[in-house]
Amino acid sequence: MAKKNIDWANLSFGYIKTDKRFVSNYSDGKWDEGAIIEDDMITMSECACVLQYAQTIFEGLKAYTTEDGRIVIFRPDLNAERLANSARRMEMPVFPEDKFVDAVVQTVKANADYVPPYGTGATLYVRPYMFGINPVIGVKPADDFQFRVFTTPVGPYFKGGAKPIVIKISDFDRAAPHGTGNIKAGLNYAMSLHAIVTAHEEGFAENMYLDARSRTKVEETGGANFLFVTKDNKIVTPKSDSILPSITRRSLMYVAKEYLGLEVEEREVYKDELKDFAECGLCGTAAVISPVGKINDHGEEICFPSGMEEMGPTTKKLYDTLTGIQMGRLEAPEGWIKVIE
Ligand SMILES: *Cc1c(COP(=O)(O)O)cnc(C)c1O
Repeated sequence: MAKKNIDWANLSFGYIKTDKRFVSNYSDGKWDEGAIIEDDMITMSECACVLQYAQTIFEGLKAYTTEDGRIVIFRPDLNAERLANSARRMEMPVFPEDKFVDAVVQTVKANADYVPPYGTGATLYVRPYMFGINPVIGVKPADDFQFRVFTTPVGPYFKGGAKPIVIKISDFDRAAPHGTGNIKAGLNYAMSLHAIVTAHEEGFAENMYLDARSRTKVEETGGANFLFVTKDNKIVTPKSDSILPSITRRSLMYVAKEYLGLEVEEREVYKDELKDFAECGLCGTAAVISPVGKINDHGEEICFPSGMEEMGPTTKKLYDTLTGIQMGRLEAPEGWIKVIE
């Protein structure tokens, strides 16, 4: 194995083409065997369902090099299950969950030279996705689908320490009640682009979306779930049917309870109680936890006592524990770590 000559520590979160990807096609009602291929380009009809009606879903996970030099992935079975749920909601065929894990393993193995070395802070991001590929003009689901997995090395999310960010409460909605907020579909991102560009123009790092029905309850950001720490050190995360079930958030809740002995609560969180929390973080695969220092509610600032310099103490403990498990420094719960090689 010869690692690629990449400046790992200075990589950004961008796309870099790697050597191999996995592709499987669905037609005549069944998936083919699938294979690792080299061609990164996709040829399809100008009228492909994904291009006209956005029938596409995806997943995101990472491969890490552990302290003892193994390549591992984190809870891929949960990504498999979530993609299957997304497929059902989008009238797409389920890609069998065991085959999903196998495809991810094959793709990471085929690109092992791109898995950043331990200690660089960089990781290999893995993107499984599926889309309707045959021509569709009258509105209906596609008949033929393609499932692919590619990888791209990404740099440390926090360069020079995790500085708390400032976010705003958005006037746009991310997900409707009974909509598609709880699945990982490209369409949820397409409609968030204007909101995030607007927030960035105004100087905010992210949007906090409220529930679309009452606009009184906290949902999530465009791509990460919220975790709050109360002043008596309880962990609280919003509960709603229109939040995407983050694997990082679910893992952090488990870690809080089982490793740190903290009380955890998944419940409705009202905007009006934001001012009472001690710490706030955004959780997702990309950053694990990104600390929030301040929330701007239409000009009114909610400042967390943890401040704008560093992560709050409990957020930091959660972050260190989960990344310790992922990087092999701490013993993982049964089934959380899949060793690739
Ligand atoms: C992917 C995603 C997350 C984070 O989920 P993880 O499984 O932790 O990466 C959170 N919110 C949304 C809307 C997402 O699409």
